[in-house]
Amino acid sequence: MSKKQTVDLPVKKNDLIDVKIEDLTHEGHGVGKVDGYPLFIPNALPGERIQVKVVKTAKNYGFGRVMEWHQLSEDRVEPPCPVYDRCGGCQLQHVSYEGQLAAKQKQVQDVMSRIGKLPHVPVHPTLGMQDPWRYRNKSQIPVGLSEGRVITGFYAKRSHEIVDVNQCIIQDQVSDQVMQIVKEKANELGIQPYDEARHKGVLRHVVIRRGRKSGEVMVVLVTRTKDIPYVSDLIGVLREQIEGLTSIIQNINSKKTNVIMGESSKVLWGSEVIYDSIGDIRFAISAHSFYQINPLQTEVLYKKALEYAQLTGEETVVDAYCGIGTISLFLAQKAKKVYGVEIVEQAIEDARKNAELNGIHNAEFEAGPAEVVIPAWHKEGKKADVIVVDPPRKGCDEALLQTILEMKPKRVVYVSCNPGTLARDLRVLEDGGYETTQVQPVDMFPQTSHVECVSQLILKEGN
Ligand code: SAH
Repeated sequence: MSKKQTVDLPVKKNDLIDVKIEDLTHEGHGVGKVDGYPLFIPNALPGERIQVKVVKTAKNYGFGRVMEWHQLSEDRVEPPCPVYDRCGGCQLQHVSYEGQLAAKQKQVQDVMSRIGKLPHVPVHPTLGMQDPWRYRNKSQIPVGLSEGRVITGFYAKRSHEIVDVNQCIIQDQVSDQVMQIVKEKANELGIQPYDEARHKGVLRHVVIRRGRKSGEVMVVLVTRTKDIPYVSDLIGVLREQIEGLTSIIQNINSKKTNVIMGESSKVLWGSEVIYDSIGDIRFAISAHSFYQINPLQTEVLYKKALEYAQLTGEETVVDAYCGIGTISLFLAQKAKKVYGVEIVEQAIEDARKNAELNGIHNAEFEAGPAEVVIPAWHKEGKKADVIVVDPPRKGCDEALLQTILEMKPKRVVYVSCNPGTLARDLRVLEDGGYETTQVQPVDMFPQTSHVECVSQLILKEGN
């Protein structure tokens, strides 16, 4: 007998069991329990009663597949996308939008209690979109070959197989149009798609960006090779058919890698950047720039961050993990001085250019790790009334949290794309003398299981 089988589990593989779904994981899987043993079940929703087949068991949890629904959730809807079950992009299209917003609020509440030990922190209802479709301003579309024909689409769940599609209803309409033109033209002209396995071929990805407010469109052709055969024909059709097109870029990525873009880019036609604005601030966006992918909700998020910062015009603000300075420039309009720090040098150059573009003179930027630069500022005697952090998924570095506790800003505004690490870091700040007054989930990524939060912390009296 193998070791696995000696563990005493309440279920075994291939068992058929009736369960009630109690919860939804952050990947969008339903959770049903058998004698306390959790089974993760794709496409099952809280409140549903189902017959599940156990497909895999591990020591502390297992996976199951829905065989039959005995009772459906009121939040269940027909997913509008025809390839929803195969594509890895969305996880919640089978849930009504109200249901999605409620699930995200609950998910944040749960981690606040479980990880942050903050069961009483007010978590507000998720701020959603009026129209939660077609919101993405950027698409990165892989190009491949299937049965001798060029295909474009998206990667299947947990794989590198391309699902051939002609449209994606969470991305800007213009992306569908570009995707179809490139596919058609590549087939007609014989432009070879990239072959991942053999590291051969030309066209790897098409990246499309559109400024929601400006309407300006950039198309980036990511290639393995320096040359693209018949490229002028392709440029011609794009120029003729794509409204708002102002920039066509070629990016060369000759490496065997999963990273989409390579280091060098050249302008094939038009300008090097497109422009867009969030609120009153204009941004220049290059092929390489990081820019929030849902501009409407970004404005909602930044307005909340600004509200939580409670600026009067007298404050010095530090913006850690500032990217191209989006939050910094938003805050600079209401603060005396803003210092932004970000690890990517190019992003800091963009941030400086964006400050200039908007005539903002009270924002300064420095490139480097926040956990090194901010302690150095502290040592030099720099003070901050408010510190804003917006770290990547892994959360804030411990050294940065300790420096915040030493600098004692009156308020901390924590923007986060991962509620788990947010809750963990809030606990550290709470233990150091802060009180989390509120957490606001914002739906930046409708139809997916991702949730963004902004939270406010106040330094408690006597600290
Ligand atoms: N605040 C920005 C970007 C947030 S994304 C916006 O709203 O647009 C998180 C950023 O943190 C990325 O730009 C990433 O490059 C940066 N980053 C990652 N690790 C870092 C570190 N240790 N120090 C500073 N910045 C870091």
